[in-house]
Amino acid sequence: MSIQYPARERLANLPTPLQPLDRISEQFSLPHGGPKIWIKRDDLTESAMSGNKLRKLEFIIAEARARGCNTLITCGGEQSNHCRATALAAAKTGMKAHLILRGGSGTGAPETPDGNLLVDYLAGAQVSLYPMREYVDTLPQLFEQWARFYEQQGDRALCIPTGGSDGLGIWGYLLAAEELLEDCRREGFAPDRLICASGSGGTQAGLTLGCQVFGSSADVTAYAVCDSTDYFIDKVRQDVADWAHRYRQAFPFDESRIHVIDDYIGPGYAIATEEIYQTIALAAQLEGILLDPVYTGKAFHGMLQDIKQGKYSGCKNLVFVHTGGQFGVFPQRTGFQNSWSQQ
Ligand SMILES: *Cc1c(COP(=O)(O)O)cnc(C)c1O
Repeated sequence: MSIQYPARERLANLPTPLQPLDRISEQFSLPHGGPKIWIKRDDLTESAMSGNKLRKLEFIIAEARARGCNTLITCGGEQSNHCRATALAAAKTGMKAHLILRGGSGTGAPETPDGNLLVDYLAGAQVSLYPMREYVDTLPQLFEQWARFYEQQGDRALCIPTGGSDGLGIWGYLLAAEELLEDCRREGFAPDRLICASGSGGTQAGLTLGCQVFGSSADVTAYAVCDSTDYFIDKVRQDVADWAHRYRQAFPFDESRIHVIDDYIGPGYAIATEEIYQTIALAAQLEGILLDPVYTGKAFHGMLQDIKQGKYSGCKNLVFVHTGGQFGVFPQRTGFQNSWSQQ
């Protein structure tokens, strides 16, 4: 099926590379009867703007321009990759960015901002930090309040939902699915399974829909980093329904092909355990790849455990989608104390 994409602002370096993870496959998968593991390098969509959110922002920013907006308002955790990418993309396209952030400690801006938050400030974004409780209870009102604030100044704001995940943002991963299937064809195989991390569900929704739209038999398995399996099944359904409604798509989406694993969230969102830090070190030491402790480290760890337990034994080729997150490594530097050895 060929598909008519809406307008897109070119920001990402596409296609991103598809690479084999030979050393990890040989040590951790093939001996267990598991698949050959490939990695789709969406951590390389850009340098500062890196990661999966940039693919969604290409469509979101084009929509903002079409609506005559000059300001982007969005939200997330204090170390949100989505907010960092939005701040930089806004700067690049001459727009203002306002970030509504869920503060860790809830006592305002940290004295020395780190990781993504540091980049938010460098990019010139306006940052409003709220305590967890206030953020959770009043997020829609915070969006309204800030949108009104900009309207009163003569600006026009587009409000982007958490992670850019809705019927608009998922175009980014519909396009990514098409690109990835073409990458695999070029390498001479058809993937049996795609793996990604799910935080707000849009990446999973776009990939799951994309595999169906472009006629791939590969299913997408998402490893949740928060919430639950039921939450993400519902969220993917909603994003796809929003897409179908907004863009008048009559595609018969098969909801039974939404797969979520919520066994590897650990103590909670953005809280990693020793085994996650160790898996991040393993990927760095065997493949030269940097995973992050919030999303990709947990998903990759879960995938390796499940391979060991035979869950993917029917697969020959599995593609892990590296969605980025590098800046999230540094604020968690103290977690890596046991991750290397020195003579
Ligand atoms: C946001 C994010 C995800 C999750 O993507 P969603 O579309 O929000 O589910 C995964 N990895 C990284 C690094 C992210 O920043």
